[in-house]
Amino acid sequence: MTDLVFPAPAPTTLPVAGSTAAFPVGRVYCIGRNYRWSVDEQARPREMPAWFMKPASAVVPAHGLLPYPPGTADFCHEIELVVAIGRGGRDIDPALVEAHHIWGYAAGLDLTRRDLQQQAKRAGGPWEAAKAFDHSAPCTRLVPAEVCGHPRQGAVWLAVNGIERQRADVSDLMWPVAELVAMLSRSVTLAPGDLIFTGTPAGVGALQPGDIVSGGVAEIGQFSMTVGSAHAQNHSPSPTSGDSP
Ligand code: MN
Repeated sequence: MTDLVFPAPAPTTLPVAGSTAAFPVGRVYCIGRNYRWSVDEQARPREMPAWFMKPASAVVPAHGLLPYPPGTADFCHEIELVVAIGRGGRDIDPALVEAHHIWGYAAGLDLTRRDLQQQAKRAGGPWEAAKAFDHSAPCTRLVPAEVCGHPRQGAVWLAVNGIERQRADVSDLMWPVAELVAMLSRSVTLAPGDLIFTGTPAGVGALQPGDIVSGGVAEIGQFSMTVGSAHAQNHSPSPTSGDSP
């Protein structure tokens, strides 16, 4: 076996509800608009939403402190149903997705530096700076589908300091989970460990340092986190000598 030049990082894992086992996270796919945000959208034809990615290292358990990321003044919440893939494949038949490919579900946050996303949209540039930052994908414990089944309905909700910001129902998804998984599998070969964030309901908004953000998906999981200081990680030591970095 080839020696590694330094030890490989441990895989990112998520805890599993009701088990001491952990789920090893592979890639993280995120679906764009997949709920109707306004009444006039009802009349529009249904278009397959765009997708983008976050690194597995962005996934963290959704509890405790949520660090406020650097480089933004518009740090936004997006509550989402998260699907965990247990068996991979390509060109998957939507009718086989649930029975053969989905391992389980979680509630997750697709955290977004909205100001950087708007800049990227204006410039026609990539979204990574807006979406793929550290701690940008907190998730609850994963619930195995053999325990929770495959959700057809149930609230998807988020509150900030106890005031509700987002609420929809799983049944409101424009593209159901099985179709999303099948769509992705026609573009990439899905693998065990992949997570899919399925899109967020209306009501996205900014988080401020000190906010308590809570949310969840009915029958799957819920969380509460406290947003950290905006400047905690930007402090550099005061210069005490003539040295400069
Ligand atoms: Mn999203």
